[in-house]
Parts: sequence; structure tokens; C-alpha cells
Amino acid sequence: MKNLIKRAAWDIYGAQHVVALTGAGVSTESGIPDFRSPGGLWEKYDPMEFMYERFIANPKRIWEMSLKMKREGDLDMAEAMPNQAHLALSELEAMGYLKCVITQNVDNLHQKAGSSDVIEFHGSLLWGRCIGCGRRYPSDAIDDKIDAGQLPPLCGQCGGILKPDAVFFGEPIPPQALQRSISEARRADVMIVAGTSAVVYPAAELPFIAKRGGGFFSTSVIEPSPNVGAIVIEVNDEPTQLTGKVSDYLILGKVGTVLPEIIAQLRELEREKGTK
Ligand SMILES: [Zn+2]
Repeated sequence: MKNLIKRAAWDIYGAQHVVALTGAGVSTESGIPDFRSPGGLWEKYDPMEFMYERFIANPKRIWEMSLKMKREGDLDMAEAMPNQAHLALSELEAMGYLKCVITQNVDNLHQKAGSSDVIEFHGSLLWGRCIGCGRRYPSDAIDDKIDAGQLPPLCGQCGGILKPDAVFFGEPIPPQALQRSISEARRADVMIVAGTSAVVYPAAELPFIAKRGGGFFSTSVIEPSPNVGAIVIEVNDEPTQLTGKVSDYLILGKVGTVLPEIIAQLRELEREKGTK
């Protein structure tokens, strides 16, 4: 593992455009269980309730359910604090290497840790979004609407129905987040895949795009790929479907331990060779 950490530091040091793709594994150390793991949200609630179609059919019902979840503390992420993994990625940005974080998490912890460019691939629990015009509203503003008796809450701009911003099953990824993620994956010469088993599509496709410049979305992207063949560094506590297929190497371990070790090694490199 020590050698792989050195290798990762070298790869990042030599890169022009590093992008990170993160998932539930970076937030478990902040006390947010993976929704899909034992103790996670889907053990208590039927994920099928969170089908996009069901929301459209009966938005009031889903809002009532989400209020109940909030009351019972099941969606209580406001108190969660970023951990060493989030902080390491924020530091990597401050050092000038990391250009953006694409996260599948909806917990706002990368932003809390100080990362300034975070693409929320699956939306955010802190926001709601109008299904008519796409305008986003902070959850406080939505709570006010609900407290005033508006259920489902409506968009002040177009009168459309507001939906929790977190992406539901069967719901398309917000177009802006999708397009930017694809474009960042294509620009990346190093992609760090951290704390994600990469089984949820289309996010799982992003490392393939970084590596091969194409994938499922290749026809939807007009710009030519400037950088095919990114080095994909995987940091996970177990092998995934990316391992040996698209990742160049897997650093096995806790992301909150491995990422700071890479940073420390990178700082050592900078001391030897100079900062970039
Ligand atoms: Zn609207």
C-alpha cells in the first residue's frame, strides 16, 4: 500500500487536471450510513416510494413522508461534519491539483470541508427544485411554504411543483450536473475514485469516460475529448467493478486514512521537486 500511495502522489503531481468522483464511502466516517447498507435509509424505508413516477403521481404524499423522515431524524445531515476524506480533497484543491469534485452524495459535506467546485450529481438534501422551471430553493424556504400550509410547495416563479432536489429513482440526472461531469471526466488526466462502489449508473460511467473518452454518453457530447486515457486511481475498502477494468490501481483502505496519506506524500514531493 505504501508504494501505491507514492505512486498516486507522483501521478497527481504530474497531472494538469485532477478530478475526484466520490460516493457514500467518503461520508460513512461522518456518521452517515450508506443508504444501501445495513442501518441505511433503505432498511427503514422502501426505496420504491422514491420513484420519480410516484412523486409525479402524488407529490403531496412524498412531501408528507419526507417531513416525517425529517421529524424522525432520518434525513438529519445538517449536523454532520466533514471528515478527513473531505478535508483531504479540499486541501488537494487548495494545493492547485484538484479541479472539481463530482459527488454522488447529497449531504453537502464536501462544501462544508471547503471544496469550492462540487458537482452534485444526485442533487442535494439541502435544496428543493421546481419540476417546471428547474429553479432551486433552499430547504428553509420550502419549510416556510409548508408551514404556511402549502403542500406540495409551489414555485414562486412559475407555480410549478417543488420536488426535493435529491435525485429520485428513475429520475434523470439534472442536465447541468450531467453535462459538466461528462466534460470534467473527459478533461481529467487523473481521476480519483473514492468511496464508491460505482454500481449506480450513470455516475458509474464517469471513470470509463475519463479512461476511454467515451462510453454511453459519447454521442451526447459534442466537444472532442482532449484527454483520453486518464489515470484512474481508486481508493476503496474493497474491490469494485472498476477494479482491474478501468482503475489503474486500487489503494485498499479507508478513504479517511488513505487520502491524507497521499497528501502527505505529495507535500514531500513538493519539498523535493518544488511546488507546481
Ligand atoms: Zn418553477
